[in-house]
Amino acid sequence: MSFSLPPDISVQRQRLDNGMVYQFRHKTLGQLGRIVLQDSADGLCQISSEVAGDRDDPMTQTRSQIFEPLSQQLATALKAAVGKGRQTVVNPLSKKALPTPSKESVTTEQIPCPRCGEIAALVIVANHAKEVAEMEDCAQKTRSIYENSDVAAWIVGAPVGNIEGAPVSPILRVWPTRHPIRYGSPKMFCAELEAILPRHCGGRLT
Ligand SMILES: [Zn+2]
Ligand SMILES: [Zn+2]
Repeated sequence: MSFSLPPDISVQRQRLDNGMVYQFRHKTLGQLGRIVLQDSADGLCQISSEVAGDRDDPMTQTRSQIFEPLSQQLATALKAAVGKGRQTVVNPLSKKALPTPSKESVTTEQIPCPRCGEIAALVIVANHAKEVAEMEDCAQKTRSIYENSDVAAWIVGAPVGNIEGAPVSPILRVWPTRHPIRYGSPKMFCAELEAILPRHCGGRLT
């Protein structure tokens, strides 16, 4: 099969007992989705495309916009490559959540409201995440954690360098609304947190 991917997308191929998985990764969005080729007992070859991430996650829509046209083109190319004298079925893009590949090794820190003492914020510390795509992967994999706790939540990645002596890490506000990823110091992050905590008792969380 000859097919060239856009420069910001890479693919890894993994053999299955009865087929092949193509796992796609985007330079900034992280895991994008996968195409699975599976042979069934009756000799039929099924080609299925699945977008990565939880259906409710707004980022899944973003990933889907990139992955859907790509997966359609690839599925057609794969069908042509496989289909020599064989029955091949191309299934439409599935938006069901992919099985989470591995559990994230993250530490979570619950921050109480200074007035009522209830949990008002959640900080997920991802000590392995430095790049934007790694932060996105983390946001995908830890979604159930921040969705269930339903308080203001951030993912803070590993330090990537120093500015004026202070370590700088990627910071991603993930809940209740998603914000763009920024790089900042602990001091900057604390200021953001302190601005949000008072809203727990007497304000709308945005
Ligand atoms: Zn992670
Ligand atoms: Zn409170």
